[in-house]
Amino acid sequence: MQIIGDKRTMRETVMEHRRAGKTVGFVPTMGYFHQGHLSLMRAARRENDVVVVSIFVNPLQFGPREDLADYPRDLERDCRLAEAEGVDYIFNPVVDEIYPQPFLARVRVEGITEGLCGAFRPGHFEGVATVVAKLFHIIPAQRAYFGQKDAQQARVILKMVEDLDFDVEVRVCPTVREPDGLAMSSRNVYLDHEQRKRACLLYRALEKGRLLAEGGERDAAAVEEAMHEVLREEPGIEVEYLGAYDGLTLRPLRELRGEVLLAVAARLGKARLIDNIPLLLED
Ligand code: AMP
Repeated sequence: MQIIGDKRTMRETVMEHRRAGKTVGFVPTMGYFHQGHLSLMRAARRENDVVVVSIFVNPLQFGPREDLADYPRDLERDCRLAEAEGVDYIFNPVVDEIYPQPFLARVRVEGITEGLCGAFRPGHFEGVATVVAKLFHIIPAQRAYFGQKDAQQARVILKMVEDLDFDVEVRVCPTVREPDGLAMSSRNVYLDHEQRKRACLLYRALEKGRLLAEGGERDAAAVEEAMHEVLREEPGIEVEYLGAYDGLTLRPLRELRGEVLLAVAARLGKARLIDNIPLLLED
């Protein structure tokens, strides 16, 4: 496994493999790997000749009061884990390599970025779309792998690729969970012992919604009320949003039909956690 920090070297390396007829799979990450990240690497390993993983904590997607400075990092451990998954290249640029100053361009996907996390993290998805667009140029892979865990992010990337004609196939992989249901996240390290015990309630709330919806409940308000009940009066869980959304437009639903996303964001102390369950409801 080779670690590359320079974008020209990275691009030339991928291009060489492509010219030799190889398929390249790309997994963008912010590092501090857990089984969710590793599952994306495994999918990329299965489906491609060459696997590239980027590790870049992207300042552009953090708000001024967010956790950029505290975001957990452990490059050595990440490299060990990636190597064990058969990753061929780690792209680990410094911030100036990605954002030489002045950096004035932005990629904005409208319509699906205003709700859900977008309402609580202004500018976040613009930061995500901008860095992923750059990474897609630096690492011109045939396939790129994202997690369902960040459902809105996956929608934004899919739409950006469609609307801006990026020549890459976006694969969205299932959410990997802890045994108690908590979605794995680098930010779970922010949880203290008590918060960690309660954090699985986010998934429990979503599961309750799923059971109701799959049992035939079509009234979004009823499903949302049932999900809220799980988290209500839980000390230290501050819900930002919790509801049923159209799986494609991400707009709030009144009636559950077709592709539905049950989604939640909540603060537990310093940690802001998100989770979701996608449903396909037949009539
Ligand atoms: P991050 O390093 O948190 O930016 O995540 C990098 C990629 O891993 C994104 O595509 C995430 O959606 C994905 N990811 C994060 N957590 C999980 C998880 N628990 N299961 C599956 N994918 C995940």
